[in-house]
Amino acid sequence: MVEERWMIEQLRDALAFLIASCCPGCDEPGTLLCGACREALRPDPVTVRTPGGLRVHAALTYEGVVARCIRRVKEEGMTMLARPLGAALAGALIANAPRDALLVPVPTGRAPFRRRGYRVPELLIRRAGFRAERMLSPARRTADQRGLDRASRARNAAGSMRVGRARGDGGDVVIVDDVVTTGATLDEAARALRCAGFRPVCAIALAATPGRRDTAELPVNG
Ligand SMILES: [Zn+2]
Repeated sequence: MVEERWMIEQLRDALAFLIASCCPGCDEPGTLLCGACREALRPDPVTVRTPGGLRVHAALTYEGVVARCIRRVKEEGMTMLARPLGAALAGALIANAPRDALLVPVPTGRAPFRRRGYRVPELLIRRAGFRAERMLSPARRTADQRGLDRASRARNAAGSMRVGRARGDGGDVVIVDDVVTTGATLDEAARALRCAGFRPVCAIALAATPGRRDTAELPVNG
């Protein structure tokens, strides 16, 4: 009896949530993500390089529906959208990550983790159906990268991460992040992993800020 009442309450909550929600892509009411916007999350891979020369494979371009969905996950707690976004990331992981490489998410700072209650890159890896190895942690506080120019981003990221586990014997790692902009964060992650004896093969991002495709450099601040 108690169980049944609990189930009904859960269903009622879920229904109320669905009715109150609207598509993050186009504001269509009563849906978590409409069919047309789900189509917009179909992978459209881009390959770019960080200033340090690390190759980055991104599944999507950070604009329009894609950008709105990612912001919902990052800023509004809509973790349910991590599933369709994770499906796009899965495509990039399958296509580019060596089978035996560890997937290392870019670490989440203490303040954003407290605010959200979850780590976005890690959540995306799990929703993509892969295992995330939480090897990197913040070594110090950094400013929010948004609003910083390329040089300030590099300075802000330098020396900001450390590897909190035993040394790797040259083992392959793939660094994973949600959005890549200048690549300064990924370069710092690669530096920390190299120092700890790992070999970063490449980085994989869910989305890259818009700019030139398949060129040697990343767009500045998209
Ligand atoms: Zn929509």
